[in-house]
Amino acid sequence: MARSSNEKTQPDLTWPVTVWRSHDLLDGHKVASLTMILRTVGCRWNRCTMCGYASEGAPATADDLVAQFERAMQRSSSEVQMVKIYTSGSFLDPLEMPEKARDEILQRLEALGIKRLVIESRPEYITSERVEMCLSRLETEFAVGLETSNDLIRQHIIRKGVCFADFVAASEVVHGQGGRVKAYLLLKPPFLSEGQAIRDAVSSAKAAGKHADIISLNLCNIQRGTLVERLWERGEYRPPWLWSAGVVLKNISSPVICDPVGAGTRRGPHNCGECDDAIAKAIRSHDLTQDVSIFDSLDCKCKVAWQKVMELEELTFGTPLV
Ligand code: SF4
Ligand SMILES: [Zn+2]
Repeated sequence: MARSSNEKTQPDLTWPVTVWRSHDLLDGHKVASLTMILRTVGCRWNRCTMCGYASEGAPATADDLVAQFERAMQRSSSEVQMVKIYTSGSFLDPLEMPEKARDEILQRLEALGIKRLVIESRPEYITSERVEMCLSRLETEFAVGLETSNDLIRQHIIRKGVCFADFVAASEVVHGQGGRVKAYLLLKPPFLSEGQAIRDAVSSAKAAGKHADIISLNLCNIQRGTLVERLWERGEYRPPWLWSAGVVLKNISSPVICDPVGAGTRRGPHNCGECDDAIAKAIRSHDLTQDVSIFDSLDCKCKVAWQKVMELEELTFGTPLV
């Protein structure tokens, strides 16, 4: 029978949101990796001002999640050494990823001989017991959304609900048991000028680098249904320039990666439209080489405009100029 047009289509809960193959650095070597995004009930916190993941949530059971994982693994091959499982929330939250599904997934990855698993979790779900559960199966990297080392920005602008000390405590739990920590930093939370955002990301990387094995720089993009989207629609927010991302990456001394999601689009980090592809490509290749000299050879006529914007925005109390 035909569906009525206003009936909400329920996604098939046995299919992951998406899955893709790529390459990552593992102990200094380029290896094949598989990334999957599983559809869970969604993040329990669900309050961060830039995050629109809540719209992806659905009532997936433990069996659904294992089925999603299995379907995603069909895209794998014997070359894949790293698997990244993202849930748009916390893999270690048992309400989101039931223990039964978590343990089955870990067992499967161990049996397949996967070298490294990467998962994401808010710090409050990172307990010794859960960390041990993962590490007893395979090497695991625990990625935590720190966003910034500045508690004021994280609490009042991003509304993350965790403080820097929570991140440090979680990192100590993981490191104490021999696991790896990845810290996500956000380039350009709302209400910060372009220059403030660059300075915040660089100083955050310095502070977080002492407690993390790797930094992942996330360039803020406009997700649907968020406060950031409402500000953007009113001309009160602009995603970061890709030039800014290059400056931040050049000034971080610890290992750092960055996937410029949505680069060159209005909702994503962007420059003038002409140079976006080249800079996004340089950012991606930096992930595998960690060679910052790649940013020195890039140029475009919009670079002067970006520099001028940074100078003038210091005087506009957070209102973007371009
Ligand atoms: S950014 Fe992370 S913690 Fe914040 S609402 Fe989104 S999924 Fe939850
Ligand atoms: Zn340009």
